[in-house]
Amino acid sequence: MSGVWIFAENREQSLELLNIGGELASQIGTKLVNIILGDNGQAQDYIDYGADEVWLLPALGPDQTLLAYAPVIADEAKQEDPDIFLVAGTLRGKELAAIIASSLDTGLASDCTFLKLGADNKLEMERLIFGGAGIQKVVCSTRPQMATIPARTFEPAEMKAGREGIKRELPTPPLSPLKLLARQNRVRESGDIREAQAVVAVGRGIEKKEDIDMIRELADILGGEIGCTRPITEEKHWLPEDLCIGISALEVKPQLYIGIGVSGQIQHVAGFRDARIVCAINKDENAPIFEASDYGIVGDLYEVIPRLLAELKKSGRAN
Ligand SMILES: Cc1cc2nc3c(=O)[nH]c(=O)nc-3n(C[C@H](O)[C@H](O)[C@H](O)COP(=O)(O)OP(=O)(O)OC[C@H]3O[C@@H](n4cnc5c(N)ncnc54)[C@H](O)[C@@H]3O)c2cc1C
Repeated sequence: MSGVWIFAENREQSLELLNIGGELASQIGTKLVNIILGDNGQAQDYIDYGADEVWLLPALGPDQTLLAYAPVIADEAKQEDPDIFLVAGTLRGKELAAIIASSLDTGLASDCTFLKLGADNKLEMERLIFGGAGIQKVVCSTRPQMATIPARTFEPAEMKAGREGIKRELPTPPLSPLKLLARQNRVRESGDIREAQAVVAVGRGIEKKEDIDMIRELADILGGEIGCTRPITEEKHWLPEDLCIGISALEVKPQLYIGIGVSGQIQHVAGFRDARIVCAINKDENAPIFEASDYGIVGDLYEVIPRLLAELKKSGRAN
């Protein structure tokens, strides 16, 4: 028994993993180890949020990627034999977790949305399958039991000031043959929809690319961001991939989600299931989106949206 380990590339996801990792560690009666990219100052922060030990990964040269850390972390795991290792499910985090799992010859369940400790400290992991139509329960028979966790699956840990813990520097990894040649910032059409308090999603009910302007105007008036379904990014290419919501895209958790010309297939609905209020505008009264909605308008979006915009402007919501 040598601990529950967590790793995340950023503080937000570290705090989420500290919460679930801390729960699992206390149930097993073991320590919680947080592996971080950072310095000693940050280490104390994570101890305050529940880590018993913080292991610092050394800074790497500019041409090295996160994957260079895989051999160091895998070597530590071979020596320490952790019970559980949770990795934040970012794109790079998932790659790192897969390489580590393969070096350790253990299993890895990706995108787990529920974790529970069963008999003999076996981790029962749940993940969505078949595009969100089913839930798969996974138990790993090898050690460590590894899982990647999507952002905002768990609440962040709470701070308990005055905690003491161990800080340790991990060795510098060997130079990775994978070299980073250049970094380029991604050009976004809008803000990050995962952070938006209001998301107005457009689906295949929209007829032309130009018509998205009125959806964008609605999103602007509501102080939110525009999102979309998979066909709008993949078939029509009217909006970029980083605005697509769903099981194979981004998950949003806004206060308000409005689906316009969206049928409400499970693969899309899974991406906004934690929205506080869901509204739908669809001309088909039997569209499945209405089952997932708090409020629904059955009508043609080309009639409803202009009227909605006019009313919002009249009420002073628009500048
Ligand atoms: C493995 C897998 C993963 C997938 N992952 C995702 C994912 O992550 N995200 C995602 O979005 N999809 C995903 N999909 C696709 C998903 O199954 C649906 O096909 C998709 O969500 C449907 O998009 P839509 O609602 O825009 O289009 P449609 O299903 O074609 O619905 C269009 C809706 O618009 C309505 N409409 C038409 N005209 C008007 C009008 N004038 N006014 C009002 N309403 C109108 C129609 O009544 C209809 O309900 C995935 C599929 C698979 C198989």
